[in-house]
Amino acid sequence: MIILVLNSGSSSLKYQMFESSTEEILAKGLAERISLKEGGKIKHESARGGKSEVVVDMPDHEIAMDHVFRLLTHPENGAIKDISEISAIGHRVVHGGEKFVQSVLVTDEMIKEVDRLSVLAPLHNPPNLKGIRACRRLMPGVPQVAVFDTAFHATMPEHAYIYALPFSYYTEYGVRRYGFHGTSHRFVVEQAQQILEKQGYDPARTRIVTCHLGNGCSMAAIAGGKVVDTTMGMTPAEGLVMGTRSGDIDPAILFYLARELNAGPTDLDSIINKKSGLLGITGSSSDMRDVEQLAAGGNHRAELALSIFCYRVKKYVGSYAAAMGGLDGLVFTGGIGENSCEVRSRVCRDMEFLGLQLCEEKNRTMRGPADISADSARGRILLVPTNEEKMIARETAQVVSQIRIAQAS
Ligand code: ADP
Repeated sequence: MIILVLNSGSSSLKYQMFESSTEEILAKGLAERISLKEGGKIKHESARGGKSEVVVDMPDHEIAMDHVFRLLTHPENGAIKDISEISAIGHRVVHGGEKFVQSVLVTDEMIKEVDRLSVLAPLHNPPNLKGIRACRRLMPGVPQVAVFDTAFHATMPEHAYIYALPFSYYTEYGVRRYGFHGTSHRFVVEQAQQILEKQGYDPARTRIVTCHLGNGCSMAAIAGGKVVDTTMGMTPAEGLVMGTRSGDIDPAILFYLARELNAGPTDLDSIINKKSGLLGITGSSSDMRDVEQLAAGGNHRAELALSIFCYRVKKYVGSYAAAMGGLDGLVFTGGIGENSCEVRSRVCRDMEFLGLQLCEEKNRTMRGPADISADSARGRILLVPTNEEKMIARETAQVVSQIRIAQAS
């Protein structure tokens, strides 16, 4: 079955097309500057035809999608003869609220609900829906599946997701912790469980902490395959230090800054989401590669940013080990988690008391998926490259198969 996976942003559209039985990527690409006046571009790559780039204005997502379909069916650069070969489309949807605790078939009702949830994710759900609506118009008969970033965290217990605020804000306004990056945490923990099972661990009892460290960063505490806590909250701003987000701060800082800077909600939002994190501390870059380079060259603020970043991860490893009553595996993924041996090394330093010990040699040389712990250590430190698109394709295939079985019986 051929499955197209889409991640639709406000001005971009990322796509990957899979043969689901083999999980082979047939084609992938990125359409940029959708809805902007000019400079639209699609970078496309197919297993058969190699790389190509098309410069084209894309006034809306439907036109962008139409161009993507043309590229997918292009006689030289494409991967299929006709778009009717696509059996299903899987969409990344950021916020599923409390309603969507697993992947679902796209219906009118579901679209209304995701639209309603836009109050919780105003920057994400509306563009996600644009992609869904464009595909429904262009391919009306093809089943579409929504895979939610929040869904994997739905198993969190109440004590992990309720904020200590007046309770009515939860019941009336949905103010609670939801967590994000769920598709990535799920993908890597499933791989980690397989690795640990081969080493004699019982997957139903494993206590794993996953660290997704990219531009956005989050961690999850996962016991027996179920999330018991995660660092991002009602929005992605909570938790770890990120490229441009502050992560945890004293909430009263916002009122202090509001008074001192005469700042409104939009300014404060921009401060904690766009001007903080690595960028805020260094004053020059949100990119970990730059931060590491500057720190190695003796730049104090870059060294500080790196230390604060790693210290925050370390603190959460400790608190999640406490939450789960121990730790069997610590998993690193995401652009930083997969590539920065410096960050992994700093996070794992002096963690022997938790049964964790990194093998510095393996940490420097191995690529994931790999076990990079010292042989003698009790718990395992794993490097597992994430693949959210593959997870969405798997979910899409599963939802579509279930529906076919239900229809046949
Ligand atoms: P996104 O969250 O946007 O998907 P990525 O997962 O690609 O982002 O992660 C981007 C981050 O990964 C950036 O901070 C980048 O500097 C960092 N990164 C990528 N390669 C390396 C590397 N070799 N060493 C350190 N950091 C790296």
